[in-house]
Amino acid sequence: MATLFCPKCGKDTDVFFDNVCKQCFTQNRTLIKCAQVLYTRICATCGSVFKRGKWSSGEDEEKTIMECVNGSLEHDPEAHDVKLDFTLKPMDYSRYKVHIEGSGKIKGAPIEVALDTEVRISRETCDTCSRIAGGYFEGIVQIRADKRIPTSEELGKCTQIAEDVASRSRVKGDRLSFIASILELDEGVDYYVGSMKLGKQICKAIIDVYGGKFLESPKLVGQKNGVDLYRITFALRLPEFVRGDIIIVGDKVIEVQNCGKHVTGIDLETGKRFMENFNDLIDVKKLSRKQDAVLAVLVADEERTIQVLDPETYETITIKRPEFLSAEAGNEVKIVKTAKGIFVVP
Ligand SMILES: [Zn+2]
Ligand SMILES: [Zn+2]
Repeated sequence: MATLFCPKCGKDTDVFFDNVCKQCFTQNRTLIKCAQVLYTRICATCGSVFKRGKWSSGEDEEKTIMECVNGSLEHDPEAHDVKLDFTLKPMDYSRYKVHIEGSGKIKGAPIEVALDTEVRISRETCDTCSRIAGGYFEGIVQIRADKRIPTSEELGKCTQIAEDVASRSRVKGDRLSFIASILELDEGVDYYVGSMKLGKQICKAIIDVYGGKFLESPKLVGQKNGVDLYRITFALRLPEFVRGDIIIVGDKVIEVQNCGKHVTGIDLETGKRFMENFNDLIDVKKLSRKQDAVLAVLVADEERTIQVLDPETYETITIKRPEFLSAEAGNEVKIVKTAKGIFVVP
């Protein structure tokens, strides 16, 4: 290989970059530049970050700092193959020192870089947090039950579902997806929600689990810049029946196992499984509850029928033998007395 002389410094070199040696070429170039101090805005309450002109939902603070630095770097226009390492060091509540080290090439000439910058965080209140603080809401989701009071277990689960739905939508970037407040009442619970969309999503998610239905009713609450402002009430009704209810559907007596879009349970007369679409049930009424069952002596077990001793009247009553029966004559079984007769419960 022919030896060349750098016209600038006179040293021997193998390759020229822009007609000078590598050292002379790179000493006038900088791979990347960065301002000494950078600024970012983070919500002190929820961690949202203000970027590209708007607030976006909470991210990891160090990731935010990295993005802020990355977005502020000025690369040499002819740089390529750039690899950078960032080292973050928190200085105090609102400042990070960031050390950047790396390498790359400019027009093929390898070049290294090491520099420091400081990111200052301004702790503010984001648009969503200021709405929540100001008591803003767009809708009320009212959880009630049909012809009964919801159980505390149901209400606890509903609240968990509502909060999960809200946080999932928030993660997806829907910033109005918040529950401003939860009001516990004797007859159920109310959720004050940040958007109508969230109200609807909560209703659908709860109905997926429990069944039931909801109605939306808008209410005019005022005007803003000449546009009518509405708030929507979502009235959700959980189904009338719960697990353990004993209901009569037509002429079948069913112990309910699950009541949602479908009602499933056990036919207490035959012991067979029961499943119907809730909305297809006609002529359905609650007779009793499994928890009201009492013990009775099984007097005789014949193939198709059994005899039990009514614990109140001491009369022997003959009923159909359900498939699930496993007790032997002389043992006790659990029975419910209903307007439709006596039934053994599994
Ligand atoms: Zn040179
Ligand atoms: Zn916030």
